[in-house]
Amino acid sequence: MYITLPDLPYDFNALEPHIDALTMEIHHDKHHGGYVNKLNAALEKAPALQGKSIEDILLSLEDAPEEVRTAICNNGGGHYNHSLFWKILSPTGGGKPSETLLSMIENSFDSFEGFKERFTNIATTLFGSGWTWLVVDDSQKLTISTSPNQDNPAMCGQIPILGIDLWEHAYYLKYQNRRPEYIAAFWNVIKWDQVAKNLENIRIKGSRTVSSRM
Ligand code: MN
Repeated sequence: MYITLPDLPYDFNALEPHIDALTMEIHHDKHHGGYVNKLNAALEKAPALQGKSIEDILLSLEDAPEEVRTAICNNGGGHYNHSLFWKILSPTGGGKPSETLLSMIENSFDSFEGFKERFTNIATTLFGSGWTWLVVDDSQKLTISTSPNQDNPAMCGQIPILGIDLWEHAYYLKYQNRRPEYIAAFWNVIKWDQVAKNLENIRIKGSRTVSSRM
């Protein structure tokens, strides 16, 4: 086993009533767990990537044999995306970010409310399965981007600091077809301190991009 499934940093029922316990359990254990298992199975055939971090794996797809490259990209992306997602949620989340991040958001989107509205609209209208992200682009500006399936904005030179999973498995048990209600609930559980930390980490490490050479 090269990659392990991270524990949730809170109980399955911690995000109730916004995200229900059964959804969290299946989402974490079965869906994220499934990505990790399939990633590990594919890595069996990719010795050059064994033992690397998920970031390095996604940066080194060209070193994987062609027969497992798509599996590593899809399941590695799934692992990366969900690992970020669990961390930016919290039962004590919600509200607004603190100063530095808030002023960056205000500079990029005029106001926090303006950002919230735009992010919500983009997430609501994303067609099919995928993600909506708040990302830092090459010029260190914040923008909103989307990606299909388990792709990640890091594949296109943007580093995600906040994201919402818009696959139906993320909300269907509680919200069925009412994706807008799930998105509205998401704002109540965002751990802005973690989003700010993600931004800080990019500044320390410098922006590294995951290139997709499929
Ligand atoms: Mn998911």
